[in-house]
Amino acid sequence: MSSKKKNLTEEETEQSDEEEQPLSFDEMGLDDKVLHSIALFGWNRPTLIQEKTIPLALEGHDILARASTGTGKTGAFSIPIVQKLLETKRYDSSSKLRALVLAPTKELCSQMHSHFRTLTSFCSREVSVVDLSQGSVEDKRAILVSDKPDIMISTPKKVIEYLNAKLLSSIKDDLSYLVIDESDLMFSFGYEKDLMKVLENLPKSGVQSFLMSATLNTDVKELKKLVLHKPVILKLQEPDLPESGKLQQYHIEVQDDEEKFVLVNALLKLGLIVGKTIVFVSSVDRCYQLKLFLEQFAIRTCVLNSELPIASRCYVVEQFNSNQYDIIIASDEKCVIDPGTREKKKSPKGNAQYGVSRGIDFKFVSNIINFDFPTTVDSYLHRVGRTARGNEEAEGNVLSFVSPRESKYFQKVSKKFGEKGNFRPYQFKMDELEAFKYRARDALRAVTSIAIKEARIKEIKREMLASTALKSFFKDHPKDHKILKFDRPLHTVKHKAHLADVPEYIVPKTLQTVVKSKRENKRIEEAASLSYEPKKRRKARPAAAQRRSAKDSDPLKTFRLNSIKRYKDKKRARRRK
Ligand code: AMP
Repeated sequence: MSSKKKNLTEEETEQSDEEEQPLSFDEMGLDDKVLHSIALFGWNRPTLIQEKTIPLALEGHDILARASTGTGKTGAFSIPIVQKLLETKRYDSSSKLRALVLAPTKELCSQMHSHFRTLTSFCSREVSVVDLSQGSVEDKRAILVSDKPDIMISTPKKVIEYLNAKLLSSIKDDLSYLVIDESDLMFSFGYEKDLMKVLENLPKSGVQSFLMSATLNTDVKELKKLVLHKPVILKLQEPDLPESGKLQQYHIEVQDDEEKFVLVNALLKLGLIVGKTIVFVSSVDRCYQLKLFLEQFAIRTCVLNSELPIASRCYVVEQFNSNQYDIIIASDEKCVIDPGTREKKKSPKGNAQYGVSRGIDFKFVSNIINFDFPTTVDSYLHRVGRTARGNEEAEGNVLSFVSPRESKYFQKVSKKFGEKGNFRPYQFKMDELEAFKYRARDALRAVTSIAIKEARIKEIKREMLASTALKSFFKDHPKDHKILKFDRPLHTVKHKAHLADVPEYIVPKTLQTVVKSKRENKRIEEAASLSYEPKKRRKARPAAAQRRSAKDSDPLKTFRLNSIKRYKDKKRARRRK
């Protein structure tokens, strides 16, 4: 233990000591198995929170860290826990429930579970992980009784179910690590009682604890007193905007709403926006308006509808993250803004859906398009914070459409960040988009308010059919299920095939060479990927046809036929002479 860190007190550690050289993962004394797993994540160096937390945690300190999603906070507690479990297992290989990681929702537990699974890829025999939040108590009974996994991930509510079933009695003696992730949400999610009960069942001492929280509100302070012992408090100051080198921020003035649609379609169709993109709009209706509009040009998007249940939202983000969609349209910041910053009183108590979007993690986002400009500086920050995340390698672009009505909000944001924001106008000649304008106008006309309503109904219907909560209801009311399933089809917007293509004559003159070369590159890429496709099995054909085709396509046979024909032709010609 270094003498410097041995006597850490809360006051001394409130701020990160910037003058120290940043540590790499290799320099943290981690086991090779852990280092290999870190490489699997593709992380080259620790984020700030990891760099500060991991060494302190390895020394055994309790940690209270103010860190939000996107900072790398999961690695900050998971890496030292797995490392220390590996060390323990060297002299005590017995099966024990040693670490409990609590998160406020099942979805976060599931994300955490897959994170721990990857982190233990090279030591899964030594360190096992289970997600208790999913499935029933009975499902997990055997695992908990016989295998006793080292790390359990759960919501507090689910831990109580297991405690009541007497499946976690041993944690009173065996638990060595406790993590409460998103601690500031725990009380507002209605977990206060459950959490207290869980804490009553933990050992009175000897547990190293981590509280991770986006804010240090009064709930967290209460938890801190209950859970932490002489903690190190890390209030790492994250820069409010990613560094200007990592983030390019452009804006473009549009005359009216229609121009926004023209522009977004032109940019996407001309291939000027490349990579995964989040488009922010100002309302749920607007999400569907944009989706239905782009659909007519064969641009596929998914919608992150803040009004749908969390499970559906997580599912959509997963689809986006797994590259099934390159563009996601988000309704306002409700879906990504940090709900913990709201007044506790305003949060719907006990509503486990509330604010969970904090944990929804977008991956590899290259572009943010503010289709509708945010009305506050904070929401601008939350939006741009979805790109250029992680460490230095991640870069991102922000493009904001600014209508005359929104110009005051843009002024506010650019004034706030001044030169640091490095806002640059996006150079684009709108008057070269005449043809795009006609097409957009047509397409927009088709997106009526009824079409939007129908698109929303369609989604709600899909949700209802997929809902586990409604499954038992439908079992008792099969008629309702049938009605819902075979309700009349919704033809929200008719598609015109020609809109999918961009004929050369409508491409702006100034962009023709760029677009041409982009298209050529795309064609080459597609051709290359096609040539690697495995050959499809041919359908069995009649024997005669097969013989004919074999003869025609076999180069040797064709050669023979040709040479015979040539020979006969020559003979005929000679005879004529
Ligand atoms: P978290 O804050 O733990 O939810 O992590 C947010 C995102 O940052 C995740 O996509 C992680 O994969 C990524 N991340 C975490 N640590 C690092 C790192 N050291 N280098 C690069 N990306 C990271």
